[in-house]
Amino acid sequence: MREFKHFIDGEFTTGSSGRSFDNISPVDGSFIGIIHEAGQAEVHAAVAAAQAALSGPWGKMSIAERTDILSRVADEINRRFDEFLAAEVADTGKPVSLASHLDIPRGAANFKMFADVVRTSSTEFFPMPTPDGTGALNYGLRKPKGVIAVICPWNLPLLLMTWKVGPALACGNTVVVKPSEETPATATLLGEVMNTVGIPKGVYNVVHGLGPDSAGEYLTRHPLVNGITFTGETGTGETIMRQAATGVRNVSLELGGKNPAIVFADCDLDKAIEGTTRSVFANCGQVCLGTERVYVERGIFGTFVEHLKRAAESQRPGRPAEPKTKIGPLISLQHREKVLAFYRLAKAEGATVVTGGGIPDMPADLAMGTWIEPTIWTGLPESSAIIRDEIFGPCCHIQPFDTEAEAIAMANATRYGLACSIWTENLSRAHRVAARMDVGLCWVNSWFLRDLRTPFGGSKQSGIGREGGIHSFEFYTELSNICVKL
Ligand code: NAD
Repeated sequence: MREFKHFIDGEFTTGSSGRSFDNISPVDGSFIGIIHEAGQAEVHAAVAAAQAALSGPWGKMSIAERTDILSRVADEINRRFDEFLAAEVADTGKPVSLASHLDIPRGAANFKMFADVVRTSSTEFFPMPTPDGTGALNYGLRKPKGVIAVICPWNLPLLLMTWKVGPALACGNTVVVKPSEETPATATLLGEVMNTVGIPKGVYNVVHGLGPDSAGEYLTRHPLVNGITFTGETGTGETIMRQAATGVRNVSLELGGKNPAIVFADCDLDKAIEGTTRSVFANCGQVCLGTERVYVERGIFGTFVEHLKRAAESQRPGRPAEPKTKIGPLISLQHREKVLAFYRLAKAEGATVVTGGGIPDMPADLAMGTWIEPTIWTGLPESSAIIRDEIFGPCCHIQPFDTEAEAIAMANATRYGLACSIWTENLSRAHRVAARMDVGLCWVNSWFLRDLRTPFGGSKQSGIGREGGIHSFEFYTELSNICVKL
C-alpha cells in the first residue's frame, strides 16, 4: 500500500499522531494510498528542524553555493520528470498533455529562475553628506527571514509550491510545507530530491494534514514560524492572516479570483476564442487566473457565444494518459458538489444554458470519477452569485456590452482583483483599458503568458503582496539599512 509520509529533518516519517486519511483518485474514485496526518508534535518537530537548519551548514553557505545546489534541485526534478508527472497526474487527474507541459517543467524552472535572480541581484546604495563634511554611506543588506511556512492548494500542486519554496530557499530561508490534503505526492517526492542533491537536513520539511485543527492551523500558529506564504481561497487567507497576527508574522497571500475577459468587436476572433477557451476550461477550470466572466461587445456577441460553445463541446473528458483527452475531472466529490450547486443556481435564476450544466456520461470504469460538463451561461444580471462568486470550475457567463466604459465598469465591479484578459487589435484601446483594470495581472491578446521575473499577485481580496523575480525579496528577506559614518 502507498503511504504519504512527512519529511522532517531529512527523514521520512509516519509521525506518532495515529491519524491518517485516504488519497482518492478523482479519475475513477480508486484508492491511491494513505496520507499520514501531522499533529502538533510533528509540526513542532518540522519547525524546530527548520529553525535549527538556519544556523547549520545551510546558513553558512555562500550565495554561489546555495544557488548552485538549488539549480541541481531543478536538474534532479527534470531527471525524475516521469515520476513527478505520474505523481501529479495520479493526485489531480489532469491530462498528461497539460502536466507535462506546465506543472512539472515549471516546478523545475522555479528553482533555476530564483537561483539566477538571487545570484545576480544587488541592493541599493546611497552616499549622504554630513554636517562635519566627512559624509556617510548607506547600503541595504538582505538577510533571510527565517522559517517560512508554505501552505499550498491542490490545483497546480508542484508548480505553486515551488513558486514559493524556490525563492524562499534561494534567499537562505528554511521551509515547512503543508501541501493540500488532496495532493500530497509531489511535495513528498521533492523530499527525496532534496536529499539526493545534498540540501542539508531540516532546510526543506513537509507535513501532511488538513487545515483547521490540523497541520495547516498548527503550522501557521507555530510561534517559531517567521513568515507565512499561502495560496488558496480568500476565506482561508483571512483565517491565516488572523493566525499570523499573533507574534506579528508577515504574510504573502495569493487568493481567489473572479477574472473577467473583455472581448471587443475589433479583436482577432480566432485568437480571442482560442485564448478564452484555454482560460475558461484549462485544468477543468481550476486555475486561479482562469476566466469566469466574459464581456463581449454586442456586435459580435452571437458569433462569439456560438464559437465558444463549439470549443466547450470539444473538451473531451477521459483518462489522463489518453492523447485525445482534453479535460480532466474536478479534484474531489466535495468540490464537484460545490460547482454543481452553482450549476443548479444558474438554472434556478433563469440563465440560458448555452451548453453543459451537469455531469457527463462516462464509461463504466470512470463512472466514480468527479467529472463535470464544461458549461456556458448567458442572460443573468450582474448581481447574480454566478457572476459575483468564484466557482473554480470549467464554466463562464457571457454578457454583452455596448461601450468601452460599460465593459470596464462591469469587469471591475467585483471584490476580487487577480487577473483579466483584453482582446482587441486596437493598440490605443489595449493600453487605455489595461491601465484601468483593477487587477494584479492584465493580459492583452493572451492568457497565462508568464515571465517568472515579473510581479505576480492580486489586488483587492485576491491577495497581499507580489512574488516573482526581485519582487519575491520583499517577502522572503529582511532588508537592513547599514549606515556607515566616514
Ligand atoms: P483552500 O483555501 O481550501 O486550501 C488551501 C490550503 O490551505 C490547503 O493546504 C488547506 O489544507 C489549507 N488550510 C485550510 N484551512 C486552513 C487553516 N485554517 N489554517 C491553515 N491552513 C489551512 O484552497 P484550495 O481549495 O486548496 O484551492 C483553491 C483556491 O485557491 C481557489 O480559491 C483559488 O482561486 C485559489 N488559488 C489562488 C491562486 C493565486 O495565485 N492567487 C493560485 C491557485 C489557487
